[in-house]
Amino acid sequence: MKILCVLYKGGKSALQEPRLLSTVENSLGIGPWLKSLGHEYIVTDDKEGPNSVFQRELPDTDVLITTPFHPAYLTGDLIRNKAKKLKLALTAGVGSDHVDLTAANEKKISVFEVTGSNVTSVAEHVVMEMLNLVRNFVAAHEMSERGDWDVSAIARNAYDIEGKTIGTLGAGRIGRLVLSRLRPFNPKELLYYDYNPLPDDIATELGARHVPDLPEFLGQCDVVTVNAPLHDGTRGLINGALLQHFKKGAWLVNTARGAICDRISIAEALESGQLNGYAGDVWDVQPAPKDHPWRTMKNPLGGGNAMTPHYSGTTLDAQKRYADGTRDILERWFQGEAQVPANVIVSDGQYATKSYGKHK
Ligand code: NAD
Repeated sequence: MKILCVLYKGGKSALQEPRLLSTVENSLGIGPWLKSLGHEYIVTDDKEGPNSVFQRELPDTDVLITTPFHPAYLTGDLIRNKAKKLKLALTAGVGSDHVDLTAANEKKISVFEVTGSNVTSVAEHVVMEMLNLVRNFVAAHEMSERGDWDVSAIARNAYDIEGKTIGTLGAGRIGRLVLSRLRPFNPKELLYYDYNPLPDDIATELGARHVPDLPEFLGQCDVVTVNAPLHDGTRGLINGALLQHFKKGAWLVNTARGAICDRISIAEALESGQLNGYAGDVWDVQPAPKDHPWRTMKNPLGGGNAMTPHYSGTTLDAQKRYADGTRDILERWFQGEAQVPANVIVSDGQYATKSYGKHK
């Protein structure tokens, strides 16, 4: 079989650190194994445009492996017109929105991912970013680096998480982990909004209340975290109109997908003070262009931005888990064995998960 894999380049870091498995250089650690089985394994970071290695190799590729960190966008057009032999699109990680799932279903291409492989990594990151924003950490650190010392300029916009109302939009694997990690901070209340409500016993254990109306949910939260996949029902969901329903001065953390939030509306809301802070590691296009407004936007007090490149789910611990999971999926695929059900996003022309808006 021909297996095409799109990863980011690791450069010097990948040569010095072999545990950076999701780099072109280290190729998920599965190159020698695939070759020993007689498969052709092509690994590239070149993914944009018709002359990219990705698009040139796609027509006779059987299995495509991609990651959400450096997504090769497998569009409907590519699926329908170029990926003539493709049978499996495998996400080494979590989140398969870079594949047009409608077209994959049409062409009966299976889409699998290593579900759960990096959810702890992301949940930790979400809590870190909430603390960063609410405590006004970035502005304080920048002041320290500059050599300045003006405690009041920082403290005037620094708060505690304790006593705040915190809500997750999406209460799946990551949303739940975030809620469980927040409880020891003694928030005023933990809320969630999800069209797949949690079983009562889990909601009780997490101490989380479901608010089934989105504007009402947002209006009650001091801090909102987004933990839903990107699909037709969430693309551009947090736009200028919806931002008006947030409490004035709320903090928003989005490590789910950049395109769930409207680029311009977020920058405007932060600059006007409607949002006091925005943090996340996901962008509406990756790599993000140099002039993307989320790189430099600030609140009226000159802080409130804790954006980073997309790395929350790609810690070294997470890379090991999703590289191992990728190999497990491939082993099952080669041997015609059933996949772990949670890893199946679409198969046989149908959605296998309820997480991508197909809940009716
Ligand atoms: P999951 O499938 O376990 O949970 C997703 C939840 O979102 C489900 O409960 C689903 O019902 C809910 N949901 C879907 N659409 C919704 C909507 N319109 N409104 C409210 N809730 C909705 O997924 P997960 O493992 O928790 O991951 C969630 C997302 O996080 C992934 O799809 C991916 O996009 C993102 N992610 C990011 C990183 C990273 O490195 N930044 C890593 C892993 C996952």
